[in-house]
Amino acid sequence: MNAPRPKHAPLTQFEVVDDSLVVGGMPLARLAARVGSTPFYAYDRARLDERVAYLRQHLPPEIHLHYAMKANPMSAVVQHMATLVDGIDVASGGELQVALDTIMPPERISFAGPGKSDADLRCAIAAGIILNVEGFGELDRIALAGRELGITAKVAVRVNPDFELKSSGMKMGGGPKQFGVDAERVPEMLRRIGELKLAFEGFHIFSGSQNLKVASLQEAHDKTFELARRLAKDAPGPVLTLNIGGGIGIPYFPGEERIDLAAVGTHLREILPDARRDLPQAQVVMELGRYLVAEAGIYVCRVVERKESRGEVFLVTDGGLHHHLAASGNFGQVIRKNYPVVIGNRVAGGEREVASVVGPLCTPLDLLANQMELAKSGPGDLVVVFQSGAYGLTASPGGFLSHPAAREVLV
Ligand SMILES: *Cc1c(COP(=O)(O)O)cnc(C)c1O
Repeated sequence: MNAPRPKHAPLTQFEVVDDSLVVGGMPLARLAARVGSTPFYAYDRARLDERVAYLRQHLPPEIHLHYAMKANPMSAVVQHMATLVDGIDVASGGELQVALDTIMPPERISFAGPGKSDADLRCAIAAGIILNVEGFGELDRIALAGRELGITAKVAVRVNPDFELKSSGMKMGGGPKQFGVDAERVPEMLRRIGELKLAFEGFHIFSGSQNLKVASLQEAHDKTFELARRLAKDAPGPVLTLNIGGGIGIPYFPGEERIDLAAVGTHLREILPDARRDLPQAQVVMELGRYLVAEAGIYVCRVVERKESRGEVFLVTDGGLHHHLAASGNFGQVIRKNYPVVIGNRVAGGEREVASVVGPLCTPLDLLANQMELAKSGPGDLVVVFQSGAYGLTASPGGFLSHPAAREVLV
């Protein structure tokens, strides 16, 4: 019949017992009963622990790991991550409040993002966190808010680098960008920070996201340190923090492989001594969102109807793009590809079939799996979308079509 379907990356992060996925120590059907309703997201804290331990094992010990919480801002997740990582990076005033509720000391919280409001800036300065400054206008507003509060604001310069992180899912630096200060204008900003007598913390150089290529990351790390060394010459004080970004991706689609983290770590180990010599007071920080949390999370919805149309099978579920835009292929993907999906209560199943998983929304965009090989299933069965712990619920248009919200649990 058809050519063999390309396989997804091996999904070894969850156990399968008696053909059922086990999440948080429970068979999936029991977990669904414990949650109380479908659809829901479940995040597995053991998987979060493992991922941080794995990073610690492979990255040089002097690198601080920060959690970029926009990947998954559920407060229970952030609370848990705060016990594992060395810092939290927030991207809004709302995220800042969640981060401040954790045990993380404020000096290890940083705030990046264009368009911070005056209210956001005042909260951040009062809290004593580090502001990653995105532009000259913002810098003046920070200085003014600090004067009004009688507090010296801590600032790091977010640099829009003069290079790109090659083969990134999402480029966040290089060329004209709304993020950060163009590298060539950073000396001018550093002078201004000195004039305004703000507390200079260092640099934030974030070049891209969702990268699976070791060579691209290594090259970006080389260029990041080189740029930081060059910029430091004009700094009003020593570089105390050097945030080198993150960008480490995870495999989502058929043919993608997990990144060789050991190779990323080895390269960092090679280049860190130079950085230490030139920037002796700099704490090097790596900020990661998706790599920390994405593989620890699943999205679960229930089959409501099984339909056939002109020879194709459709599993209509109670979940869809209103909860999980990324799995539907509408969150920045150029070509729609399937996330890894299984029938969670019959993983291998008896009979297999090719089916599409759709949601209840009246739009053809509401597609969670397109013509995938799955265990044969019907109403009541539980569809699981893996790699769903990042950019899931809060990156989806929950109000679209007024269906019930999805729950979230940390197990
Ligand atoms: C979104 C973001 C991250 C996290 O990106 P991931 O791909 O989830 O690791 C890190 N830093 C900044 C500044 C961001 O905006």
